[in-house]
Amino acid sequence: MRMILGASTKKHVEKINQLGYTAMVSFNTLEFRKSPISSHTIWIDSGSFTRLSSHKPLATPEKLIRVAQINNTEIVFTPDAMCEPQIIEKTGLDVDEHIRITHENNKYMLEVAEKVNFPTEKIGLVVQGWTVKDYIKSANLCKTIIKNPNQIVGIGTLCRRHSFSEIGEIVDTVKSILPQARIHAFGVKGPALAYIKSKIYSADSFAWAFHRFGDFRYQKICQKTDCKTKCNNCTIAIEIWINSLIKTINGF
Ligand SMILES: [Zn+2]
Repeated sequence: MRMILGASTKKHVEKINQLGYTAMVSFNTLEFRKSPISSHTIWIDSGSFTRLSSHKPLATPEKLIRVAQINNTEIVFTPDAMCEPQIIEKTGLDVDEHIRITHENNKYMLEVAEKVNFPTEKIGLVVQGWTVKDYIKSANLCKTIIKNPNQIVGIGTLCRRHSFSEIGEIVDTVKSILPQARIHAFGVKGPALAYIKSKIYSADSFAWAFHRFGDFRYQKICQKTDCKTKCNNCTIAIEIWINSLIKTINGF
């Protein structure tokens, strides 16, 4: 399984690469940049969770692909509508509508990519749902538009689950409908990730890494004199953070 590590600065992206991993950067971080965040290859998350949580509209496929073209992008994910009750409450729409929006955006991402000559194999499609039945519906919709058999397909809303077997069942279900797709699990951590890691191509630390980095950002953890009370953007702190993240991941 490939672990893709969440990053929000050039220093993060470079340190992650130096340690042999790939960085995932949010569209929200890249949106207004005119130049690449780094020369290293990155994956781009659509930033949809943050946007829907704060009542902002989803990024458009045009803008996401534009940002992907500016950066050295391996994968760029579709703007999706996740289905946990917390987000459903924010949008006021139901799960079926969130599945429909995600499907329309998957379709439109592929169309825009073709139109602007951006490789469709770099588009990370997303399936969404809450129950297993929802994921069957979403994966079947995805099957009708998928361009490359081994396309990356991200499974959303997996992290807010009580049971590992439920996460495993959802992953198995999506894989049975899209057998050749490379499955990416969004935001799954800890023992749940250990449970599914043999079934998936990749996972990311995006949803949980920021919280950990947040711990370091507001306190001093290095010996440098120019970090007076906190290591806000210090490379030593970044390295300590990434090493602890990798240690946690390897322990799964
Ligand atoms: Zn420091």
